[in-house]
Amino acid sequence: MKIQILSDEMASRIAAGEVVERPASAVKELIENSLDASATEIFISVEKSGTSSIRVSDNGEGMAPEDLNLAVERHATSKLKVDEDLFRIATLGFRGEALPSIGSVSKLQVVSRLPNTPTAQKLCVEGGKKGEMLPTAAAVGTSIEIKEIFFNTPARRKFLKAPATELSHICDAVNRMALAYPGVHFRLEHDGRTVADYVSVNDGQDRLYQVFGREIAKGLAAFDWRQGELAAHGFLSSAPLSFPNARYLYTFVNRRYVRDKVLTHAVLQGYETLLMKGQYPAVVLFLQVPFGEVDVNVHPAKFEVRFRRQSDVHEAVARAIRQALRQEAKEPGPRSGAISSSSFSGVREVALPYGLSARTAPDNPAPTYGNVFTLPPRAAAQEGFYSSMRVLGQILGCYLVCASSQGLALIDQHAAHERVAFEKLRRQMDAGKVAMQNLLIPQTVRLSAGEMMLLEQKLDVLRRFGFDLEPFGPDAYAIHSVPALLPEGDYSQVVRQMVADLAEVDTSSKLREHLEDRLATIACHSVIRANRMLEMDEMRALLSDLDQIDFATQCPHGRPVLIEISRDELERMFKRVV
Ligand code: ADP
Ligand code: MG
Repeated sequence: MKIQILSDEMASRIAAGEVVERPASAVKELIENSLDASATEIFISVEKSGTSSIRVSDNGEGMAPEDLNLAVERHATSKLKVDEDLFRIATLGFRGEALPSIGSVSKLQVVSRLPNTPTAQKLCVEGGKKGEMLPTAAAVGTSIEIKEIFFNTPARRKFLKAPATELSHICDAVNRMALAYPGVHFRLEHDGRTVADYVSVNDGQDRLYQVFGREIAKGLAAFDWRQGELAAHGFLSSAPLSFPNARYLYTFVNRRYVRDKVLTHAVLQGYETLLMKGQYPAVVLFLQVPFGEVDVNVHPAKFEVRFRRQSDVHEAVARAIRQALRQEAKEPGPRSGAISSSSFSGVREVALPYGLSARTAPDNPAPTYGNVFTLPPRAAAQEGFYSSMRVLGQILGCYLVCASSQGLALIDQHAAHERVAFEKLRRQMDAGKVAMQNLLIPQTVRLSAGEMMLLEQKLDVLRRFGFDLEPFGPDAYAIHSVPALLPEGDYSQVVRQMVADLAEVDTSSKLREHLEDRLATIACHSVIRANRMLEMDEMRALLSDLDQIDFATQCPHGRPVLIEISRDELERMFKRVV
């Protein structure tokens, strides 16, 4: 006989391997337990990056002696009562695995005292062996100590990273919880030194300052969005603040930190074309979903979730982000001013000329294209940001040099044209009508068999973009019309590129994003690439066009349209001030 049933001890160690990967995992589990016990103070103290000891004390509801005795057993939990509970989990824990797992790979001591009882009880577990429960003196709440984690699993110990890395994982774990629970006081000490001390605050924004520090926190704006049972709120950076990785991208579902591809993708899609490729925003997203709509039991460490209606969630999050960004571009709060202290300033200054956003979101009733332009002209005093600049000239055939109220402004004319074209097209698309131009002499575009098949399926989509095509023999299409925005020329290239791009669109949830990318493709083709001298009235027209669009500070590929150098910066450059 080859097969044998594992001993309980071995089974727990294997289970522990999934739940407790490193000291930070233990810290996370203990904090979750404290939060589930409604603690308002959670103090964490670790030694040697958690490898020597981890202590988490809380002022939560504590455990009765009988409960304490059971708490360290496998599959023992107070959080699931009836079977259905598993499908509407409202607590952070529910697997009943953390304490026994930790107990099987360390020397664990749990001390707990209920309110209104004179003494606390203490229980030790060492390498999975439970000791005797003893009365002891302690404050109300629970205090858990883990010594010598992985002392009996040397293989696991070997996989630990450098102490600094393990410590940073612990900090991350604490920070994530702290972001979701601003009302809870968190303190983290390492080798006797206080690493973090986040006193309880009422406002999530104040917690951002505690966790991220001023530099980052001041660049984040609050947002709040709700549709039916889905609600999303949180904080986000507007375009100029970005990072080369997703380090500042936090997603929470029902206050549980998760790493979820769908959510991350939706957030990035919300930013549309505002970020350069490879750049990430800072976002703290709290998604509130009915408990029954999300399955949290898909990952042993509960880092992943599954949504029942994944595409609705994706759509909702992308919308929430997009709307928040649009709002920020229109009415930048004090935060954006802070962002513009970097060398790209201007967002703060972008005053949109019209009361309503000319761009229509699918969730808003669409103002028609026409009425945007029938609004009365604005008084000179409220002149748009771009129009208010004095054009000094053009240099190198592609930059406008202007005097702005702040100082010197440089505008990349190619990026600006592209952004304007992009926004015009997008408005037309949103209004369901892209202006087309009919070609007197249709052009033909020859395609491979694969491309022919693809194009056949995408004719409708292409028509939405303003391309009207008809089959022309076995290996070609005739182009009858193109978007009015495109300058005269050879259109076969842009059509071919559109077909190639559209090949990647398989699911409808991605369509919107792809439409945006395609718009960018068209916008890019619509711009005369070669450097060209502009007449003064052309420059003025471009500036006033920029005033009429959202997000005017970046081209659709995320390159900046505008670089502003303020008086301060000039004075610093000339060393008038230091
Ligand atoms: P789970 O959190 O999945 O229920 P755990 O093994 O983490 O499983 O904890 C087991 C049980 O011990 C919990 O259900 C809870 O009743 C109790 N418990 C653990 N930590 C605490 C704490 N800090 N305060 C109060 N009760 C706790
Ligand atoms: Mg737990």
